[in-house]
Amino acid sequence: MASNTQEYIFRSKLPDIELENHLPLTEYLFQRHQGKASSRPCLIDAEAGRVLSYGDVDLLARRVGAGLSRLGIRKGDVVMLLLPNCIEFVLAFLGAARIGATVTTANPLCTASEIEKQASGSGARMIVTQAAQIDKLDRLLHQEDQEREICVMLADESECPKVEIAAEVDVVTLPFSSGTTSLPKGVELTHKNLITCIAQLVDGENPNLFLHGNDRMLCVLPLFHIYCLSCVLFASLRAGAAIVVMRKYEIGAMLGAIQRFQVTAACLVPPILLALAKNPVVGDYDLSSLRFIMSGAAPLGKELERAIGDKLPGAIIAQGYGMTEAGPLISMSLAFAKTPFAIKPGSCGTIVRNTEAKIVDTETGESLAYGVCGEICLRGAQIMKGYLRNVEATMATIDKEGWLHTGDVGFIDRDEELFIVDRVKELIKFKGFQVAPVEIEALLVSHPRICDAAVVGKSDEVAGELPVAFVVRSPGSLRISEDDVKQFIAKQVVFYKRLHSVIFVDSIPKSAAGKILRKVLKSALSTN
Ligand code: ATP
Ligand code: MG
Repeated sequence: MASNTQEYIFRSKLPDIELENHLPLTEYLFQRHQGKASSRPCLIDAEAGRVLSYGDVDLLARRVGAGLSRLGIRKGDVVMLLLPNCIEFVLAFLGAARIGATVTTANPLCTASEIEKQASGSGARMIVTQAAQIDKLDRLLHQEDQEREICVMLADESECPKVEIAAEVDVVTLPFSSGTTSLPKGVELTHKNLITCIAQLVDGENPNLFLHGNDRMLCVLPLFHIYCLSCVLFASLRAGAAIVVMRKYEIGAMLGAIQRFQVTAACLVPPILLALAKNPVVGDYDLSSLRFIMSGAAPLGKELERAIGDKLPGAIIAQGYGMTEAGPLISMSLAFAKTPFAIKPGSCGTIVRNTEAKIVDTETGESLAYGVCGEICLRGAQIMKGYLRNVEATMATIDKEGWLHTGDVGFIDRDEELFIVDRVKELIKFKGFQVAPVEIEALLVSHPRICDAAVVGKSDEVAGELPVAFVVRSPGSLRISEDDVKQFIAKQVVFYKRLHSVIFVDSIPKSAAGKILRKVLKSALSTN
C-alpha cells in the first residue's frame, strides 16, 4: 500500500500580519512611544515604588549603551547579565542591544562553576552584576588570558554609537534553555527572531495577547529566562503597558504587589498557580484588578486551571506554550485576544500567527491529522538561528525543510486548540503502554491533601518502567497514606497508569522557571 504523504499544516485562527522584523529590536520596542506617549509609566520597581517613564527608559538605555561602548564593547560582543529582576537588568539589556551587542542572561542562583561555563561558552567579554555575586566570579576575574570586566556604567547619551544592525543575522540575545532534559543549551536569537515572536503576541488589529497602555503587567518570573524576557518585558514594552518589576517570588509579596499596583496582567508558571489555588493567604488580598493570568513553561492540569478560575472569577486563566528555541512562543490561548475566542480548559492555546505547525508520528515522521498525537513541529521566522557553537544539535533539532522539532508530544483538535501530552523523553513506557507523568501529576494535585507531586518512571526488568509518584502532603494532612494515594489514582485511570509506589517528600525539585526536575527524582530512585 502506498504510504500517506499528505501534510497537515496547522495555523492560527487569526490572519497573518505584516511583520516589522527587519528593524533592530530596540527601535521596534520603542517605535510607538515617542513624543507625548513617552511620559507613560514603563518600569515600576515594586519594592522601592520608583517609576520610570518610557522616555526615561529609552534615555537611560542610550546612556548605558554609551557607557558600554566607552568600556570597549562593540557590535557582536557578548555581554552577560548576572542579575535578579531589577530596573538595571532592563536598562543593561536595552543598552547593550542598542549598540549591537549580544546579551546572554544568567541565573544568579547558579553556582560559580555553572556561571563560569556560561561565561566561557558564550565568550562573554563583560559581566554586568551586583556586589552579592562577586565572590562567585573570583576565578573568572583571575583568568589572565581573558578580558572581562565587571562594572556599572552610565555615560552621555550622545556618545551612544549608531550601529548598523542586520536583523536577520545579528544575534541580540543568547538565553540558555532550562536544562530540564540535559545540560542547558545556548540559543542564538536574532533581532528578527525576537521581533517576530513579540509581534505574534501583541501586534495586529486583533492581537493574540491583547495588552494596552493602561495595563500593569507583573514581572515576577526571572527575566533571565526567555518566557519572562519576551512575554512580559518585551511584549509589554511594545504594547506600552507598565511593568511591575519584582526582585523575586514570594507569595505574600506578589499578592501585595498585585493589590498595591492594581496589576491587570500576569504571566506565571504552574508552581505559582498551585500556590494561588491552595494557599489560604490568597484570601487576604484584593486581586480584582487582574484581568488575565497566563500560565506557561510547564504543564498546567485542567483541574488546577478550573480551581484558580473559581477563585478569581474576574480574570481569564489560560495557557501559552513555548520553548527557548522558538523565542519562545509556539501557541497562545485565543482567550487573551482583543476579540477573544471561546477556549477549552487544559488547552495550550492555538499556534501563533505567521507560523506553520505540524504534528508528526515520532517513529515514521508521517504528518498527522486533527486529534492524532505526535511530536509538535514548527516553522516560522521566530525560530532560533541555532544552538551556540553546536551545529550537530542544531541540525538534529531543525530539519532541512526548516521544521523545529520540539520534543513535545501533543495533538491539535478541530477547534485548532493544542493539547500537550508530555515530552517525548518523559513518557513512561509500562509494558509497551505509554503513561504521561503530566496527566497523573494533574490528578494528584487535585487532591485536597496533596499540595504538590511529580511522577517518574522507575526501571523494571519485567515491565520496562513503573510509574512512581513523589508526593508532598498539604500542611496538616499527614494521615494520607501511600495506599490512599494509589487508590485515588486507580479510581480515575486505566490499569497501566496506576501508581506502583508513592514516596512522600517535603518538596519537589523545580527549576527557576518552574519546571519539575524529573532527572533529579530519577537519580534519587536509582540510588535508593
Ligand atoms: P532543556 O531543553 O534544556 O532540557 P527545557 O526544554 O525545559 O530544558 P525551555 O526552553 O525553558 O527548556 O522549556 C521548553 C519546554 O517547556 C517545552 O519543550 C515544553 O516541554 C515545556 N512547556 C512550555 N510551556 C508548556 C505548557 N504550557 N505546557 C506544557 N509544557 C510546556
Ligand atoms: Mg528544551
